[in-house]
Amino acid sequence: MFKAIILEKPGDTVEAAVGELTDDRLPEGDVTVAVDFSTINYKDGLAITDSAPVVRDYPMVPGIDFAGTVEVSDHADYKPGDKVVLNGWGVGERHWGGLSQKARVKGDWLVPLPSAFNSEQAMSIGTAGYTAMLCVMAIERNGVTPDKGPVIVTGANGGVGSVAIAILSKLGYEVHASTGRASEADFLKSLGASEIIDRETLSGPARPLGKELYAGGVDAVGSHTLANVLSQTKYGGSVAACGLAQGMDLPSSVAPFILRGVTLAGVDSVMASKEVRTEAWNRLATDLDISKLENLTTKVSLADAIGVAGDILKGQVRGRVVVDVNA
Ligand code: NDP
Repeated sequence: MFKAIILEKPGDTVEAAVGELTDDRLPEGDVTVAVDFSTINYKDGLAITDSAPVVRDYPMVPGIDFAGTVEVSDHADYKPGDKVVLNGWGVGERHWGGLSQKARVKGDWLVPLPSAFNSEQAMSIGTAGYTAMLCVMAIERNGVTPDKGPVIVTGANGGVGSVAIAILSKLGYEVHASTGRASEADFLKSLGASEIIDRETLSGPARPLGKELYAGGVDAVGSHTLANVLSQTKYGGSVAACGLAQGMDLPSSVAPFILRGVTLAGVDSVMASKEVRTEAWNRLATDLDISKLENLTTKVSLADAIGVAGDILKGQVRGRVVVDVNA
């Protein structure tokens, strides 16, 4: 028997509870992993509270990521005892996920855990942090370098934002952090932000072109905020868009693209190739100061994770929440 959060939908509403399962209930896959830690990401919040149609079939074990130890493997790349990490691929949405003491998945979805991290550290990075790394890689690909000027990170206190600040500052960027929580300014500065921007200044309708302030940006918020960031991006700059915390719309104009050569780089972590995700995890091992993770991580049990799912949607979570599935 093993414990997991199980989502059931007996009627119109989803019920989430910690329950016990047997191995024969595990879904198909060629690798079985003893999960050490999982996390609560924004998408887990949506799934557990049924606030968006993330999950189609019930019962479902949520959890879009996990880190753990291979228990059984029919996959050539993995053997029992290997440390692995998984992000995305529809796990926790269409395939049973990581908020569980055990998971069975396709070995092709796994990434070997870099030796720089243990499982808990890997999950304090989690999908949010791995996505932050993908965003940094995207703006680098488009030519953004620290000498080109400051970069902006929106949704700064969230999982993507906080890890993006830590990575960018370690890489030598001057990082400006946009947040609705001015009370967390010291926390954001401890991660490496040099300027704190009130998110209200970015949350209303954007002018086609604003003052050229930023060489680039990492945007976890979308909507007017992304439109304002684009209009304040310098000539030739690049912004990585990965999130929709304010909204899914993008009320912008083509002006930043056609008059300033700005690039908008879309970032998706879920279906990213194995090559890209392996590169991202290896970059995290060198470009993220692990000691900063302690400041931005809260640890909860499987049972407490259900309540945190609601908190993350209300924007009440600071940094990352790691779930100790064996607590
Ligand atoms: P969090 O909830 O941890 O962070 C989101 C942050 O956005 C909040 O902490 C808050 O920061 C800010 N925010 C919330 N509501 C608003 C609003 N109405 N207007 C402006 N800012 C707001 O989520 P994550 O960091 O885990 O994820 C961020 C986004 O990225 C989500 O939309 C998520 O779905 C998406 N995502 C996408 C991925 C991909 O593959 N493309 C992968 C992972 C995440 P503050 O309090 O500092 O203002």
